[in-house]
Amino acid sequence: MALINDHYLKLTKNYLFADIAKKVNAFKVSHPRSEVISLGIGDVTQPLCPAVTEAMHKAVDDLATKERFHGYGPEQGYMWLREAIVKNDFLPRGVHIDPSEVFINDGAKSDTGNIGELVRWDNSIGVTDPIYPVYIDSNVMIGRAGVMKDGQWSNVTYIPCSEANNFVPQIPDRRVDIIYLCYPNNPTGTVITKEELKKWVNYALKNDTLIFYDAAYEAYIQDESIPHSIYEIKGARKVAIEFHSYSKTAGFTGVRCGYTVVPKELTAATIDGSERLPLNPMWLRRQSTKFNGTSYISQRAAEAIYTPEGKRQVKATIGYYMDNALMMRNALTRLGLKVYGGENAPYLWVKTPGNTDSWKFFEQMLYGAQVVCTPGVGFGPSGEGFVRLTSFGERDNCEEALHRIGRWMNERL
Ligand SMILES: *Cc1c(COP(=O)(O)O)cnc(C)c1O
Repeated sequence: MALINDHYLKLTKNYLFADIAKKVNAFKVSHPRSEVISLGIGDVTQPLCPAVTEAMHKAVDDLATKERFHGYGPEQGYMWLREAIVKNDFLPRGVHIDPSEVFINDGAKSDTGNIGELVRWDNSIGVTDPIYPVYIDSNVMIGRAGVMKDGQWSNVTYIPCSEANNFVPQIPDRRVDIIYLCYPNNPTGTVITKEELKKWVNYALKNDTLIFYDAAYEAYIQDESIPHSIYEIKGARKVAIEFHSYSKTAGFTGVRCGYTVVPKELTAATIDGSERLPLNPMWLRRQSTKFNGTSYISQRAAEAIYTPEGKRQVKATIGYYMDNALMMRNALTRLGLKVYGGENAPYLWVKTPGNTDSWKFFEQMLYGAQVVCTPGVGFGPSGEGFVRLTSFGERDNCEEALHRIGRWMNERL
């Protein structure tokens, strides 16, 4: 008899976005004439840029010839892409990463979910709260999160990011083995300064903590002083693994490509504490066993992001989303709502008026304005009383959504 992994039974029943989809569908069934606008799920809407699609067409043609056909590639990714990453994403910021430290993936979700395999199931974890649900759920699946009690997992240290601390997470007063950080942040859209990030690196160095740093939104940073990579902080190479994704950077949510950096100096202890071993060869071993690489076409597409045209075109699309964000911020603020984020990230974190709870406000806005947001509490206990809006929509849709929210809010008064 095959016994199931019963940790799966502890998971909350549905993935957050499945719950939202269900409620939206229920609304659509009872209101068949209504046109619902979604500012909920974090998916992009603008097409791939020409530099990328040209590279993809060319890659397809390569595969159609005997001379340029590519079968299995290196599990770690093609060297030409890893070199382009090192040269463009890190060197200009004074960060030296070796291509052997870069692992091309099929998106950051896989790696942020899978990286936990490298460390024992009984490590303690810390997360900023609210948080991207994958970090916690992937730990629940292998039993590392403990048991759910009063909306919190027993082995997880929640580090609140709230209005009270202006969304600056405070260093915990106890040690944890593993910390997840995501900046610019999903869902709050807030960023971390170099000074604050330095505190986390120093905490990790002092407490022998491993940091998983998710930089999926670094391309949205507009403020020059905000760090794009944790490796901009001295000492981070010893303590941090960093995740990147082309999904939000260049609209690759359907193409699938990103990368993970595992520095050579990064080590973790063996159970008896007698030895420290580097995680880089372990991750290579893991990937070689369970992953056969990202498609040649996706990697050629990613390479094209680093050409001069690619850079220009990608920047223009990010500018489009950030113009949406600015317009949304201004309009919602004018309506008297308290809005955070949206300045260096494509997310706006909006406080619900009159302490309405997140799910209730979600339903009110759906039924009142036919606009879908994401209830903040779906990202963790500190998200209660907030909703997340994304600026990934079409301009017209964003404008129409704001118009409807305005009308609805005025009617509510
Ligand atoms: C969208 C997102 C990712 C990227 O996921 P992909 O698998 O690369 O599409 C990673 N982390 C966060 C926090 C995200 O919001």
